[in-house]
Amino acid sequence: MLKRIADIKTENNVGKKVILKGWVHRLRKQKEKTFIILRDDRGDIIQVIFSSKLCQNLTIESSIEIMGIVSKDSRSPEGGFEIKAEKISSFNIAETDYPIGEYQSEEILLDYRHLTLRTRKMINVGKIRNSILRYSREWFYKENWIEVNPPLLVKSAVEGGSTLFEVKYFDDIAYLSQSSQLYLESMIYCLGPVWSITPSFRAEKSRTIRHLAEFTHLEAEAPWINMDDLIDIQEKLIFNLIEKIRENNTMELDFLNKRSKIKLEKILPPFEKITYDKAIDILRGKDCKIKEDGKVRSIEWGDDLNIESERELTKDIENPIFVINYPLEIKPFYVKQNYDDPKTGMAVDLLAPEGYGEISGGGIREDNLEKIKTRIIESKLKPKDYQWYLDLRKYGSVPHGGFGIGIERILRWILGFEDIKDVVLFPRTMSRITP
Ligand code: ATP
Ligand code: MG
Repeated sequence: MLKRIADIKTENNVGKKVILKGWVHRLRKQKEKTFIILRDDRGDIIQVIFSSKLCQNLTIESSIEIMGIVSKDSRSPEGGFEIKAEKISSFNIAETDYPIGEYQSEEILLDYRHLTLRTRKMINVGKIRNSILRYSREWFYKENWIEVNPPLLVKSAVEGGSTLFEVKYFDDIAYLSQSSQLYLESMIYCLGPVWSITPSFRAEKSRTIRHLAEFTHLEAEAPWINMDDLIDIQEKLIFNLIEKIRENNTMELDFLNKRSKIKLEKILPPFEKITYDKAIDILRGKDCKIKEDGKVRSIEWGDDLNIESERELTKDIENPIFVINYPLEIKPFYVKQNYDDPKTGMAVDLLAPEGYGEISGGGIREDNLEKIKTRIIESKLKPKDYQWYLDLRKYGSVPHGGFGIGIERILRWILGFEDIKDVVLFPRTMSRITP
């Protein structure tokens, strides 16, 4: 028995009797006939026509089962197939005050996110999201990386302390993980190249269009790799994702943003690599300004690349770009110093084109015990909080590196959405934790 709308929309089904379950997505009642757009549990839609006598009390979002004959009518939306229904029964007649209509403010849509998920926009976002997760996982398996589950309740900060979420932990306090990196580092000694996908939590206090308080973090770490390897791994992983999505998600891309497909077609490795020094030269050439303590000044060597400067660097390019060798001072304590240029460290960020900016951050990790201890102290952190992590440098330390990718950042870029909240099913930000 055919179960889903996607299976039904083929020529050889015309004239056949089918049963479908789903929800009333749109409803138009006339005296004799009622037209509904039925949405099934995978979000596909088909027009169903039945005699208005069959179900007088039908409402938007009622859950129903229908039996009818598949027919073709070019006026029907999405493929010209429709169903002439003979029977209809309901699981639940929805209340008449369904709050999601066609013209609703963004805030209302967010307040009712548990229902907004049923809009075709969110359904299509959910499907592309699934593809990103699936194709990343497939790539790692194919390349023989091992998937691991690091803890999310932790005691030590990876990023700065200002974005830590504190939680009560029995009689003590703990933090929600900002990144699994330190734990992944411990696993390369026993499992080799490892990766994980977890939520990461950051108390981002500034409201931006690319920061969430909880995001989906894909992280990877491998022993005995250098900067070239690290770049190569990320390039392959990201390009594989792009290729798979443009092959398998054309319908969703077309629905969400017609430009996305054209944009993805243009992406081709190798991606350009520039040093931080060069990035600063470019930005100074464009007279890029920085706001600091309420004053505006020209960008200088030593400044971090913020949203504005990343936008400036990438707004006119079509391919992602790697920026390498950042000043050691603006990067976390675990970044390895460059031998030939001690002011800089082996950090690498991948910036998405068209102004989207950072989608991945990574680097080669400091593997020398004394150097990393010094860096911890210089960063005003306490070595005792990192005792277990420092053991990794005491017992069989090896050169190694890794990276972390924000799944929502990738989605935002691929879909060409302005606000990162649009690519998560239940966004968490400074001002929102419900629904
Ligand atoms: P940014 O400078 O944009 O705040 P970051 O340098 O803090 O990023 P990393 O610590 O390197 O980011 O984290 C790795 C990746 O995780 C980033 O490249 C980004 O894709 C993603 N990411 C980081 N913070 C957030 C956030 N608050 N919301 C969504 N994604 C994030
Ligand atoms: Mg950050």
